Amino acid sequence: METLATELLQQLLRFNTVNPPGDERVAQEWLAGVLEEAGFEVDLLGATPERPNLVARLRGAAPGPVLCLLSHMDTVLATPSEWQRGPWSGDVVDGVVWGRGAQDMKSQTASEVAAALTLAREGWRPVKGDLLVVCVVDEETGGANGAKWICREHPDKVRCDYLLNEGGGTVFEVGADRHYGVCIAEKGVFRFTLTAHGRAGHASMPAMADNALPKLAPLLATLATAKAELDVTDAPKGLLEGLGIEVGEDAATALEELRSRAPELAAFVEPMLSVTFAPTMIGAGAKINVIPSQAWLKVDCRVPPGMDEDGARARIEEVLAGHDGYELSFDEEVVGNGSKPEGPLWDAIAAWLASEDPDAKVLPSMLPAFTDSRTFRAAFPECTAYGFYPQREMSLYEMWPLVHGKDERIHASTLGFAARAYKAITEELLG
Ligand SMILES: [Zn+2]
Repeated sequence: METLATELLQQLLRFNTVNPPGDERVAQEWLAGVLEEAGFEVDLLGATPERPNLVARLRGAAPGPVLCLLSHMDTVLATPSEWQRGPWSGDVVDGVVWGRGAQDMKSQTASEVAAALTLAREGWRPVKGDLLVVCVVDEETGGANGAKWICREHPDKVRCDYLLNEGGGTVFEVGADRHYGVCIAEKGVFRFTLTAHGRAGHASMPAMADNALPKLAPLLATLATAKAELDVTDAPKGLLEGLGIEVGEDAATALEELRSRAPELAAFVEPMLSVTFAPTMIGAGAKINVIPSQAWLKVDCRVPPGMDEDGARARIEEVLAGHDGYELSFDEEVVGNGSKPEGPLWDAIAAWLASEDPDAKVLPSMLPAFTDSRTFRAAFPECTAYGFYPQREMSLYEMWPLVHGKDERIHASTLGFAARAYKAITEELLG
């Protein structure tokens, strides 16, 4: 399957699907053809003709659970002059495949499709339930035309009980132990604006007016370094405990212990444990010689899964205690969600790993950002959705900078490793 997955990935990388604009149609039509030929029923469904989502179904003999192998076809942009190889070359050099999307996430599309094609071409069909291969568009700019659209407009086409998607699976080591994270949850997003008010006036006589802009300075300084109270949820708790670190009443102590044992990993875990604030935009005034009567500061705020607007507001007000004279409004509100680290899908992942890498352990993890898994969990509350793309040739710390970065690449052997995972999990769940 490694050869098949590598060839698929090379093809996929050669379609430029940088979003915006995405322009995924040609790639999706090509992939649809490949799956159709192997016996899948394929639909291309899109909000616009240029951006169809692909839904391929391999129907079982009897009703049963639906397993969905999900991925997205779009990528972020790439600046060719910064790269050692063309971002749309699909070059394979010394066993490594290069191109935009080689990690995020055409590699997973290739491994999922390689597993699905191998099964279908062998004549395998689910004993019960269906296998779905879904490749959506428009993930990188939020999924309005992709996962959100298809879950809303065609829920019956993509309804599933188990879902595998991006967001976890790269190996990391703590001491001598090797672990693979399964992303079971994603944080929510509560982006907000703080507005300060004053009184406009002539800039030549500042004292005669009331400048709104400097009122933001103390708020900005506080938010730039603010640490919210910890809100511990299943994923980081399971991760820490899986590493042998007890999470008692005081999760801060557990985090400290992790920091002393594995500082690199602690940097990944810390944002899983609390609300985070990143002030990213600020503005005031329209003219240099007019004292502004209004100034605004925008903050990208990420909250643990399950936290709603009231919870977010409470944490914001806590860190801004002692400040006044600001107005708070939310610009974007997305509640994060998660699945339990247990059940048939979890067991199937663990069983596969035990056969391929018996000394390693599966641990729950969380993505501080969010993926299409969040949309699927919200649309289908019964669905267990995990991020899992097993990868052992690169560690988490080597892989992460390549995502949205230059020189994105992946080992071909990883493509085969992951394809074997998807094949084994599919056979386990659908019989
Ligand atoms: Zn992605």
